[in-house]
Amino acid sequence: MTSALDPRTGAVALCAAPGHDPEAAAAAVRHLLTERRLCPPDEADGAAGHLVALARHYGNRPFTPLDAVRRERGLDTDRFRRLLDLFERLPELREAVIAGPSGQYWSNTVLPLERRSVFDAVLEGTPVHPHIVGLYPGPSCMFRCHFCVRVTGARYPVSALADGNAALASVIDEMPAGSAESLYVSGGLEPLTNPGLGDLVRRAAGRGFPMTLYTNAFALTEQTLERQPGLWDLGAVRTSLYGVSDEEYEATTGKRRAFGRVRANLLRFQRLRAGREAPVRLGLNHIVLPGRARRLLDVLDFVAELDAAAPGRPVDFLNLREDYSARPDGALSAAERTELQDILLAFEEKARRLTPALRIDYGYALHALKSGTEAELVRIRPETMRPRAHPQIAVQVDVLGDVYLYREAGFPGLEGADRYIAGRVGPDRSLSDVVGEFVTARRSVAPRAGDEYFMDGFDQVVTARLNQLEADIAAGWAAHRGLLR
Ligand code: SF4
Repeated sequence: MTSALDPRTGAVALCAAPGHDPEAAAAAVRHLLTERRLCPPDEADGAAGHLVALARHYGNRPFTPLDAVRRERGLDTDRFRRLLDLFERLPELREAVIAGPSGQYWSNTVLPLERRSVFDAVLEGTPVHPHIVGLYPGPSCMFRCHFCVRVTGARYPVSALADGNAALASVIDEMPAGSAESLYVSGGLEPLTNPGLGDLVRRAAGRGFPMTLYTNAFALTEQTLERQPGLWDLGAVRTSLYGVSDEEYEATTGKRRAFGRVRANLLRFQRLRAGREAPVRLGLNHIVLPGRARRLLDVLDFVAELDAAAPGRPVDFLNLREDYSARPDGALSAAERTELQDILLAFEEKARRLTPALRIDYGYALHALKSGTEAELVRIRPETMRPRAHPQIAVQVDVLGDVYLYREAGFPGLEGADRYIAGRVGPDRSLSDVVGEFVTARRSVAPRAGDEYFMDGFDQVVTARLNQLEADIAAGWAAHRGLLR
């Protein structure tokens, strides 16, 4: 019998990681195939190398259509089908794909959505309630981040808030019971600029949705928390951290002395959260901006300072990201990326020592870089966008009740973004109505150059996965579509 500790099993499970020997992995696969009597020894000899190659391919390039890999390996359909059957029966190969440099695509996004079977509704054109709904309640934002797509000066009228909050409340009320993460609060603009946010949060929590709030935390003051006690019913506060000094904040957000205020807000939040024993989690989201890679280590000092403010209630999580917008000024230079790899290792070591309770998520690109390789980043272009989008999987609703098909489109006045509004929720029109009509009427949006910027990383991954699944089904690989599910 083999066990999880068997070195052969280990050789297979790590075969997509950089630096691992494909020959040794193939020998281990051959052994597992025969030991488990999955195929005769002569077939195992021929299959093992191909199976390892498949795991390596999808651990690095998760969105390749199956038939492209079949052709690349020069296999006929019968032989490839047999290999895919064997692949499914060796869980170590699945593990290998997920442990590969692109594993975060699988574990963070694709597989959780596959478990909910949400891709099928899109592929079949079936109207179902969106699996994930983002509430965008913020009428304005006090920052002007240089990478943000928002239109300077554009905001929602304050007079729209009463009806808007009623529309968002109705969206909460009609959300089908299910995954607790299906509702979240983000933007669009800054959610804490909406004085009714606490009530919406409490309403959602009462329905079993402890929402995560994406915020810049500038308005997360003691007064806000006193005026809006419902905010304590949040599942998590995820603060976008734009630096660790006033100068860095000003350079990024255009706002003077903003770090000092965010820092004070978070320190107080830590103390209040601990004092109330509130279950709300606190996390930071930090984008590694060009020229700032070295400053990453200082972020941990800030986390340690927040930890010290509330002994026993350390900061829960830190999400590190590269700028994913694909805008030319967002990319790190080649030299800085090389340096970043070493910085990430030092960062990991410092985090272990200084902030051991912190759960760090490196995201798609940085995870790969940390593993010593470059992930193939998904880059959807207008020609690979899906004109009917994926509203059965996710939509975003702003404070006018407008239902946006992509996460970066929900900003007032953003040119071309209104084409991505599926409809408006109101007293006589539910979110299910809006999405149902959009899907049933087979409405579509013809993508134009630049529209890809309306999609965030999640939208891009979902689109890439749907394109892949569609190609697999069309090529006759429906039973194995997408390799892992
Ligand atoms: S990125 Fe967020 S905080 Fe910055 S300007 Fe845009 S909406 Fe405001």
